[in-house]
Amino acid sequence: MHIVCSQCFAINRIPEDKSHTQAKCGKCQQAAYCLSPIELSDSSFYRFIEKNDLPVVVDFWASWCGPCKAMAPVFKAVAGQSDSLLFAKVNTEEAQKVSTDAQIRSIPTIIFFHKGKEIDRMSGGLSQAQLKTWLLQCVQKLS
Ligand SMILES: [Zn+2]
Repeated sequence: MHIVCSQCFAINRIPEDKSHTQAKCGKCQQAAYCLSPIELSDSSFYRFIEKNDLPVVVDFWASWCGPCKAMAPVFKAVAGQSDSLLFAKVNTEEAQKVSTDAQIRSIPTIIFFHKGKEIDRMSGGLSQAQLKTWLLQCVQKLS
């Protein structure tokens, strides 16, 4: 499978018999996979959601948004428990092209992408249990 390095965004091919959670990036030698949400920008966003074979769950947020701040620790905690998914964050004030393309109308909005395609989205604050239930529903839509 292919994993985009969470540090340098190089595309790494992981052999079928190896776990992506153990993989080191061939370019920067750091862990290619990260259990914490990764900050994406207008320049890294498309590469990251399109070139990863794992689904990518993206939290669209803004610094002035109270519900986004409440959502951040929930998102981070669930990311740390989900090693078959990737988690990323997009600051809508900075990554304006991505936010416009994704038609973000309210924040926080969480979008589940697989190979560049949007599978589903949720807006508003969620508990860990709600987020996990929704992620499970998204994963089931893939098969
Ligand atoms: Zn790297």
